[in-house]
Amino acid sequence: MADRINRRIVLAARPDGRPKPSDFRLEQVPPPIPADGQVLLEILYLSLDPYMRGRMDDAKSYAPPVALDAVMEGGTVGRVLESRHPAHTPGDLVLSHSGWQEQAVCHGDDLRRLDPAAAPVTTALGVLGMPGFTAYSGLLTIGRPKAGETVVVAAASGPVGATVGQIARIQGARAVGIAGGPEKCALVKDEFGFDAVVDHKAPDFPERLAAACPDGIDVYFENVGGAIWDAVAPLLNTFARIPVCGLIAQYNGIPDRSADRLGRHMWDVLRKSLTVRGFIQREFADQRPAFYEAMAGWLRDGRVKYREDIVNGLENAPEALIGLLEGRNLGKLIVRVAQA
Ligand code: NAP
Repeated sequence: MADRINRRIVLAARPDGRPKPSDFRLEQVPPPIPADGQVLLEILYLSLDPYMRGRMDDAKSYAPPVALDAVMEGGTVGRVLESRHPAHTPGDLVLSHSGWQEQAVCHGDDLRRLDPAAAPVTTALGVLGMPGFTAYSGLLTIGRPKAGETVVVAAASGPVGATVGQIARIQGARAVGIAGGPEKCALVKDEFGFDAVVDHKAPDFPERLAAACPDGIDVYFENVGGAIWDAVAPLLNTFARIPVCGLIAQYNGIPDRSADRLGRHMWDVLRKSLTVRGFIQREFADQRPAFYEAMAGWLRDGRVKYREDIVNGLENAPEALIGLLEGRNLGKLIVRVAQA
């Protein structure tokens, strides 16, 4: 163990707008040593998620920022190398929040054991993990789609959006996805089985969205904001529900004119009796057992499908996160840190 090296990626600088590779730094340090109650993990997979962009800013949010020179945070699947906790033994596969590094120590109580025979372990970072749970809890608790209603979701090829549309269909609703480019649109329609999909890069996107929603929109699951919200807003029906999950169009600080239109949007909220409700998935933590059970069943029956975009090598994580914020991923973005 003494000759091992832990490679890790730290936040080197706070980005100004779009992150750059120089905002990250790859370091080599001695491996961490577990104390009583802890385990030493070899990280196999690292999840890359849009929220990481927010953690790079020194701004007040629902979670504290990553400190400069600290390891970038993130959900991980790892293998127990050494255990000083009674519930874990070497070789166990576990979910943890160990960040962008090859080895980590965690308290044994903070780990979730994974069964590779039940589902591929990468799904614990996507459809059977935080993004899938976000879709499930936000859609069913706030969106509350009913049979025959129209549910619209953007970033529809990603892990949150794809799951929203498929759960909407399980509820008997009509799912309309919004995605960027023909490859993503084909995935949403042909693989995930949405009723319709609209490419937001088309010059006549608002007209195409209107044509795809002839009965208006009853639930808009907001993942993006910006120009997509502008096209959605006129189509919202009276009593529409809008779970506000994410606003990725704004994460890189690209100027957005939506403040100029606040008065008009508030008028819509009033005259259409809209419910607009932001949420962070962890507020619904008590629903997780029901989610794991329901989603495992849907995956088994083939009623929910998923796509993963796996990038090899920890050193490629910065470029992959930069790409995610520009829509270059096709499915749930995961870094393979070591061979499973
Ligand atoms: P994702 O879909 O894998 O990746 C983000 C996608 O957003 C990109 O692939 C791209 O897809 C789209 N996008 C990026 N910039 C855009 C822009 N300027 N305009 C339009 N589309 C843009 O991400 P995810 O993990 O499923 O997350 C989706 C959303 O859920 C994010 O906003 C995230 O922050 C949010 N989220 C919230 C919670 C919560 O608790 N509230 C939890 C998890 C995730 P296209 O190329 O198809 O446009």
